[in-house]
Amino acid sequence: MTQPRGGFGRAGVQFLSEEEKTNAPKVTWVLLKRIGCYLKPYRLQMALVLLTITASSMLGVLPSILTGRIIDQGLIGRDFSLLVQLVLLSFGVTLLANGIAVIESYINTWVAQHITYDMRNTMFQKLLLLSHRFYTSNNQGDIITRMTSDISGVQSVILGTLTSILSNTITLVVALVAMFQKNWMLALLGIVIVPLFAIPTQRVGKSRWSLTMQVQKSNDKINGILNETLSVSGQQLVKLFTNEQSEYENYRKANEAMTKLNVRESMAGRWFRMTINTVTTIGPMLIYMAGGYLLIRQDTSLTVGDITVLVALLTQMYRPVNTLLTIHVDVVRSMALFTRIFTYFDMKPEVENPQNALKPEVIQGTVVFNNVQFAYEPGHLVLKDIDFRLDQGHSIAIVGPSGSGKSTMVNLIPRLYDVTAGQVSLDGIDVRKMDLYTLRQSVGMVTQDTYLFNGSIRENLLYAKPEATQDELEDACKKANIHDFIAAQPMGYDTLVGNRGLKLSGGEKQRISIARVILKDPAVLIFDEATSSLDSISEDLIQEAIAPLIRSRTSILIAHRLSTIMAADEILVLKKGEIVERGRHEELVSQNGVYTELYETQFHHALDKIQHSGSSS
Ligand code: ADP
Repeated sequence: MTQPRGGFGRAGVQFLSEEEKTNAPKVTWVLLKRIGCYLKPYRLQMALVLLTITASSMLGVLPSILTGRIIDQGLIGRDFSLLVQLVLLSFGVTLLANGIAVIESYINTWVAQHITYDMRNTMFQKLLLLSHRFYTSNNQGDIITRMTSDISGVQSVILGTLTSILSNTITLVVALVAMFQKNWMLALLGIVIVPLFAIPTQRVGKSRWSLTMQVQKSNDKINGILNETLSVSGQQLVKLFTNEQSEYENYRKANEAMTKLNVRESMAGRWFRMTINTVTTIGPMLIYMAGGYLLIRQDTSLTVGDITVLVALLTQMYRPVNTLLTIHVDVVRSMALFTRIFTYFDMKPEVENPQNALKPEVIQGTVVFNNVQFAYEPGHLVLKDIDFRLDQGHSIAIVGPSGSGKSTMVNLIPRLYDVTAGQVSLDGIDVRKMDLYTLRQSVGMVTQDTYLFNGSIRENLLYAKPEATQDELEDACKKANIHDFIAAQPMGYDTLVGNRGLKLSGGEKQRISIARVILKDPAVLIFDEATSSLDSISEDLIQEAIAPLIRSRTSILIAHRLSTIMAADEILVLKKGEIVERGRHEELVSQNGVYTELYETQFHHALDKIQHSGSSS
């Protein structure tokens, strides 16, 4: 079954331009076998499809052959009862062929849907395992395109291309055999004109492929524009920079390009169809002429019925020839789709659960960084020789100028990235040797750009602990200082948070995310403090919420406020990826170094507030 497909693929590549040839994927056995793997579980159904296609294609040719007998024996032979029988038979055969075709399309759709169901699941599962870096460096639109249109493309391949090759080949072969049986000379005559439409077919195949690619690109561009401008933040950006007009122009241009392409694409088909229509009418005319000549002048055994059958078969033959001549474009396109999908399937997650992973029963929460180095890109160290020990139940504040590597450092603990050199360990176990699930269960993070998904507050909280009871939710929210706010909402815990939680203020979002982390109850808590986006009341509420949390578990605080910094057992001062100073506030402030500078520029202005919040916690 794979043979003709490979064959067509190889033959087809000749019709593509140089550029398209280089871009076209190689149809290799490995690729075909791999595609075969996805079909394998459905081989029984595929065999059924094969059987039904064969049956319906063969039966489909039969009425044309019966026409000959209807004319010769029924009409010319003036045998009415035979005529009725033949007409009924012809009708019955057509009915049967169409009935089988319906069954075939049902099984085929079922198989195609199930194969893409499997592929979508595999892809989503794969995407969930891919590392953080994959998501920070890939375009979200591209990823979604793979998930949606690429996989749907595959579905149409299975549904269309494969069956089209099969049914058209069968129809063609049956029609050819029948034609040659009737009269080989006339059959040859009919076939002679095939090259007449094979040439325009080649040209259309060529332009169709490159037009499809262009349409695809232009589609991507429009999607990109929509994605960027119609998101909440994108819209805000457009409004605040009053770029509506230029965004509109951008969109209009892309839209115009797309419209032109669409017109070209459909026109390419029109000219093609016109040529084909003209050529396909020449064929029958030729047969009438030559057949008539043989019948009238040469006194052959050929009958009127035979000529009619030949004409009918010839017309029936053109469609499959025409389809098979352009199908290579679909085959190459589908191979490209499979190749794109398989590229994703083959991606190795950078951070993986190790083999023989260690799974401690209880995590105490001692974090040690041992000569840790880290680079996002080879040769560009973002962290250099980071060395510290954070004992269970203690807390560390990391301070430093923006871009000094604070977030990078904490991201190494739950293995969002792996160290370039050195070691990060939790309870004495290298995090790379620990079961990833256990590790990530033990680390809770409250980040600056809190992410709440579009749903209710309750749903967002339950994300951390699906089985949590209402009491547990309320308890966590009370600790996070957000319960009163939630209770005051008309819908209470069922209040919807809006797209990315944008219906809530920054402080409310952050306190909900603190409640979420409290529900998770991790051994190690990482808190990335918001820099300046919060007002002092919100800050105080957050401060009140995190102070007891910090006291009760191992905590790492990326801190910008003196109150938080002073609450920590140790302060690490980071500059350009290195710990340049460490100690407690009093020691550091007198050193006249980076900390003193930070203190004077960043923390100092908050001094009044510290005293206030210091007394409240
Ligand atoms: P901080 O949290 O102290 O502001 P970060 O840890 O976010 O600093 O960043 C440290 C450095 O690493 C910066 O120079 C930043 O540009 C770079 N960086 C951060 N994230 C990435 C990333 N995903 N890919 C490449 N470089 C990054």
